[in-house]
Amino acid sequence: MSTAASAADAPVSTDLISMDPATGQEVGRVPRTPIEAIPKLVFAAHQAQRGWGALTHAQRAEVLRPAAARLKAEARRLGELASREMGKPLAEAVGEANYCADGFAAELDEIVAALADAVREDKRVTSILRHAPLGVCAAITPWNFPILMPHQSVLPALVAGNSVLLKPSEETTLVACEYARILNEFLPPGVLTPVFGDGAQGRALVLADVNLIVFTGSRETGKRILGDAGPGLKRVILELGGKDPLVVLEDADLDAAAAFAVRNSFRNAGQVCVSTERIYVDARIRGEFLRKMVEKTQALRQGDPRAEGVNVGPMVNARQKAKVMGQIDAAIAAGASVLAGGESREGNFVAPTILADVDHRMEIMREETFGPVACVQAFQSDDEAVRLANDTPFGLGAAVFGRDLDRAGAVAARIEAGMVGINQGCGGADGCPWVGAKESGYGFHTGPEGHRQFAQVRVISRVK
Ligand code: NAD
Repeated sequence: MSTAASAADAPVSTDLISMDPATGQEVGRVPRTPIEAIPKLVFAAHQAQRGWGALTHAQRAEVLRPAAARLKAEARRLGELASREMGKPLAEAVGEANYCADGFAAELDEIVAALADAVREDKRVTSILRHAPLGVCAAITPWNFPILMPHQSVLPALVAGNSVLLKPSEETTLVACEYARILNEFLPPGVLTPVFGDGAQGRALVLADVNLIVFTGSRETGKRILGDAGPGLKRVILELGGKDPLVVLEDADLDAAAAFAVRNSFRNAGQVCVSTERIYVDARIRGEFLRKMVEKTQALRQGDPRAEGVNVGPMVNARQKAKVMGQIDAAIAAGASVLAGGESREGNFVAPTILADVDHRMEIMREETFGPVACVQAFQSDDEAVRLANDTPFGLGAAVFGRDLDRAGAVAARIEAGMVGINQGCGGADGCPWVGAKESGYGFHTGPEGHRQFAQVRVISRVK
C-alpha cells in the first residue's frame, strides 16, 4: 500500500485536542459531542429540568453551596490547567479560580435575593411577581476567562431553575469540563451537561429546543446566534466584544493613568473584552504620558506563563497572532509610529506594543484587536475626546482619567459605553451588572438585574 493511500485511509480523530499555546504541546483531548446527539441531550435536559425546576431558588442554592469548598480546594489545579490551555500567566489563572470559589456563596445569596417574589399592589389588585425557570439554557462561552465565564453563565441559570448545556470554547474544553465536574458532584443527574466542540456544536445547540441562550464571545458570533435564535423567539443574553477607550485629560495623574493603560492593555496579553485598546490623550501632556507608558511597558516580562514573574503570555493560537500582527503591520504601513514592541516573537508571542500617530482610518482603531497593543492618539479638546471615544459600533467599557472629578465625570457621562470608570477600570461595585452598550451587548448578566434575565417573570394577580 502506498504512503498516500494509508494516510487517506487512517481514521480521522474526532477528538477535540487542547494545545498549550506557549509550548505547542498537547494538554489533553476529549471526544467531540456528535452533532446528531445534541437534540437528544437537550431532550434529556428538559426531563431533568422538571424536578430541578420544582425546587425553590433557596433549595437549589443549597444544593450548589458545597461546590464552593471543592472549587477552592481544586483552584490551584484548575488554574494550572487554564494556564496550559490558553497561556494566561499562572498567578492570574489561579486567581481566576479563587475568585470564583471565594465569591461563590455570596453569588448564590445574591441570585436567590434577586429572584425572590415581589409584591405590587394598588387599591384594587394585589400582584405577585414570580421569577420562574425558562427551561433549558445553552451556555456558550469563550476561552479568555475559561473558568469565570462558565461560572457567571451557569450559576444564575441553575439557581433560576433551568437545566444547562455548557458548550465551552474549543480552546479551553478541559478546564470547563473540570468546572462542570465539580458542580456535578452535587447536582442531580442531567441538570448540567457539558457539550464539547466548536462553532458547529454551538450552532446545533442554538438551533435545538433550548429556551435561553447565554453567550459570551465575539460580536460576529453574537450576530449569528441572534439570527439563529430569532425564528424561535428564544431568549438570548449576548455579552460581546469591545474596543474600549481610555481618555487621559490634561490634569490627570499621569503616573496613575500610564500604570492603568499598561496594565489594562497588556493583561492576559490583551485578550480581555475590556482591554484598553484606544487611548486618547490631551495633546499638551502626550509626550510625558507616552514616556511613562513606554518605561512601564519595558518593565514587563513576557515568556513562559508558568515562570515566576512573567506577566505577559502568548496569544491563544496562531490564528489570533496572525490577526493581531496583521493589524499592527497595516497600521505601521499607514504611518503609525512604534514606541514599544511592534514585532512578532517566536511561537504564538506578540511583543507588548505601543503605537502612536494612529487615526480612525486604521483597522486597529476600529476593529477589536484582542492582543497586547495600546494605540495612542492625541486630542485638542474634551469634545474631540468624546467624539473619538464614541466613533465605534462597540460600547463595552471605557475609562477617563482626570483630577477634576466634575470635568472627568462630565466626559464619562457622554461616553456611549455600558460601564465607564473614572480614574479606575470599568468594573462597578459589588451588585453592578456587567453590561455592554451598542454592539457590545444584547441583554447582560451579573448583579440582581442581570440574574433576573435568567428567569421568566410571571405576574399572578387577585382582587383584594
Ligand atoms: P467566539 O465568538 O469565536 O467564540 C465564542 C464561543 O462561541 C465558542 O464557544 C465558540 O465555539 C462558539 N461559537 C462559534 N460560532 C458559533 C455559532 N455560530 N453558534 C454558536 N456558538 C458558536 O469568541 P472567542 O474567540 O472564544 O472569545 C473572544 C471574544 O469574546 C472577544 O470578542 C471578546 O471581546 C469576547 N468576550 C466578551 C466578554 C464580555 O463580557 N462582553 C467577555 C469575554 C470575552
